[in-house]
Amino acid sequence: MIKSFLNTKKPRDECAVFGVFNNKDAAALTALGLHALQHRGQDSTGIVSYCKNQSNFFGHRGIGQVSEVFGDSNIIKKLEGMSSIGHNRYGTTGETALKNVQPLFSEILTGGVAIAHNGNLTNTNVLKKELINNGSIFQSTSDTEVILHLISTSKGDLIERLVYAIHSINGAYSLVMLSNECLIGLRDPLGIRPLVIGKLKNSYILSSESCGLDIIGAELIRDVEPGEIVVINNKGLKSIKPFANAKLRPCLFEYIYFSRPDSILEGKNVYQVRKNIGKELAIESQEDKIKFDKVVPIPDSGNAAALGFAEHINKPFEFGIIRNHYTGRTFIEPTNTIRHLGVKLKHNPNFESIRGLKIALIDDSIVRGTTSVKIVEMLRNCGVKEIHMRIASPPVKHPCYYGIDTPSEKELLASKYTVEEIAKIIGVDSLKFISLDGVYRALGYKDGRNNQNPEFTDHYFSGDYPVKLVDKTIGIKPSQLSLLIETK
Ligand code: AMP
Repeated sequence: MIKSFLNTKKPRDECAVFGVFNNKDAAALTALGLHALQHRGQDSTGIVSYCKNQSNFFGHRGIGQVSEVFGDSNIIKKLEGMSSIGHNRYGTTGETALKNVQPLFSEILTGGVAIAHNGNLTNTNVLKKELINNGSIFQSTSDTEVILHLISTSKGDLIERLVYAIHSINGAYSLVMLSNECLIGLRDPLGIRPLVIGKLKNSYILSSESCGLDIIGAELIRDVEPGEIVVINNKGLKSIKPFANAKLRPCLFEYIYFSRPDSILEGKNVYQVRKNIGKELAIESQEDKIKFDKVVPIPDSGNAAALGFAEHINKPFEFGIIRNHYTGRTFIEPTNTIRHLGVKLKHNPNFESIRGLKIALIDDSIVRGTTSVKIVEMLRNCGVKEIHMRIASPPVKHPCYYGIDTPSEKELLASKYTVEEIAKIIGVDSLKFISLDGVYRALGYKDGRNNQNPEFTDHYFSGDYPVKLVDKTIGIKPSQLSLLIETK
């Protein structure tokens, strides 16, 4: 019964956005930035550029990774102009079809506008219904198109329209937009998804994470503030703050799993935060009084936390599992035959280094339990004596509606079972999750989570959803809006 609860689907993460203003290699730099941000989405990618001399926008979008879609340098050459924006997508709303690949582009009263979005709106269906009632026509199933329609149907210049639009939407959104005059970046009033500003000589850069700046040699200037719109044009950067109640509350999972460890978000190096979480996890695990021989991460997601854990208990950190980095997109949801081979596509035990030992096995999270079950079985088969799993996040009990594709409550292991039951399901000798307070301590809040005024968006652990879940509450499903399903 319990095993049938587990399936092979894994959570997938979200999207990346990138923008360049005032650079003769705008599109090429954007492709490089998107490459550095590939971990945030591998389904599809796209770039739209603007060329002032020709008064034209140019776009190229495709299904696949950046190297597949933009591998041919002739494609980049055709994306002319000194400014461009780009997007990597793992779709959390709307299916994977070319019509949903971003940046989306529309010609509206103020001129051409391209938009790329990381996050997820929580009132898409309510707004879409209203807009359709008023005569809007939709081409995609992406929530981002709603933003374009709100901009198009409101009044004033582009920025006034944008301000109107973002007061109508709920949810998580870090956006980059491109018009014939400016590059725009903005974050929702809680700053749930990241967005940073960089400079490369006289060019401005916007990127989901600072690793997108590093790859092109740009300097990190600062994060876009929660609820802030930055408008970048030939006069420089202008900041607009249209929300009176903006307050930073970024997604905690960015630090735990999503963001690249070398990124700096809100002044914090993600790798260092993960090491600190490992240390706090070790402190909380001390009460178990287990004497580990070695600390083994599930690579790569458990690496940094395992290092922090090992350093704290003063035991060897060991790569007891080796990860194959070349399991491309096609293997993510493989055929039944390949699926049967299971986790070995990605992970293989490093037998000699762990056989006969008592190990602390570290991963960042357990969602459906798919990964842990397979890894534990694999380690048992190669003769590891005792497996004590230590998880660098609290139990994931609640789904996310802000841009992370976590499954529904009934698929989340921790929402159905106790820690002891989960330990049995995944077959470990013991299991421990770090407390939510422990994660906050690792982030520098020595008293743990401030429950009256939490510093992060952490609903998957706490059940505290800071943005209204309008569509979910009203119960409007996208299927109530008819869609053309395109055959491929
Ligand atoms: P699961 O196998 O369903 O328990 O998922 C947990 C594993 O997936 C862990 O190894 C995480 O590193 C990884 N993970 C957690 N959240 C996500 C996500 N949103 N996208 C992709 N992988 C994830």
